Amino acid sequence: HVKWRGKNGFQYYDPSMNSMFHKKLSLENELRRAIEKRQIVLYYQPKIHLDGHCVIGLEALARWHHPELGLVSPLEFIPLAEETGLIHALGEMLLEEACVQMRQWQDAGLNNFSLAINISPQLVEEDAFVSRILTPIRHHQLSEDLFEIEITENLLMRDVESSISKLKELGSHGIKIALDDFGTCYSSLAYLRRFPIHSVKIDKSFVSDISSTSENASIISAIAGIANGFKLDLIAEGVETIPQMHTLQSLGCTKMQGFLFSKPLPAKEMTQVLHNPSLLFQDVPAPPQMLP
Ligand code: C2E
Ligand code: MG
Ligand code: MG
Ligand code: MG
Repeated sequence: HVKWRGKNGFQYYDPSMNSMFHKKLSLENELRRAIEKRQIVLYYQPKIHLDGHCVIGLEALARWHHPELGLVSPLEFIPLAEETGLIHALGEMLLEEACVQMRQWQDAGLNNFSLAINISPQLVEEDAFVSRILTPIRHHQLSEDLFEIEITENLLMRDVESSISKLKELGSHGIKIALDDFGTCYSSLAYLRRFPIHSVKIDKSFVSDISSTSENASIISAIAGIANGFKLDLIAEGVETIPQMHTLQSLGCTKMQGFLFSKPLPAKEMTQVLHNPSLLFQDVPAPPQMLP
């Protein structure tokens, strides 16, 4: 065994590190090629409102159509893209794709919903972040208020002042900001107050066992209270069952997203859903009728 100096003195060299390194390097090269060849595309998942059974927005979610591996999850390649800096090229390509798609939907008269894009913290830290977001939107003659960006709590701790001012600038142009996976990170309520946030998304981990532990229901109810107090919009993600839907509703959350309504779909299938949103509510009991 070859010895090398680790952080804490001498450690044994592990031959498997070498192959891990090569595996990662080849994946990085594949990812670079996939971006060039546009093998990474967007799927769309509807965000619904129980009142009126309507679609209020879509979330764009990246999918890698790998020639050998099939569909690769963003949980695999987004972290790699972030580590390697490829996230900048990937983010730019996906935003362009989102704008082209949104233009098509607008032209087809499908214009009463917003589109949410997930944004990595690295992109927000770029100097040109604001114009990188606004330029493609304007280029496709889309209204800024059709767009929302989803950021995660870990952004809140990085480069705070400059992130706040960039997000405020986007907000002043009508772009909405959502705090994704809310409650999963260290969250400081003081940051929440300072950041120009329009909505919070309850993380799916709280929704998935909402009824098995009463703690999760308490967390959701606390998040609903925070959203209410800060005058923020509230939406739950990862809703898979009707009991989860009912519990959320009873806790004051009526906007949601999840497999109960729809999985993320390719653009073509999402177009059909947008033409006929009742497809999403086939398994869901009708909302209560208003009495005259
Ligand atoms: P996220 O933004 O929190 O997205 C929600 C994830 O939950 C998505 O996973 C979605 O497919 C999944 N999901 C939705 N409904 C349900 C449900 O009812 N049950 C369950 N079990 N899961 C549900 P996905 O598409 O694999 O994306 C994972 C994460 O990857 C996203 O989490 C987001 O953080 C990141 N991501 C995806 N696309 C992009 C992108 O274009 N850019 C960046 N920076 N990150 C992205
Ligand atoms: Mg998201
Ligand atoms: Mg989330
Ligand atoms: Mg997430």
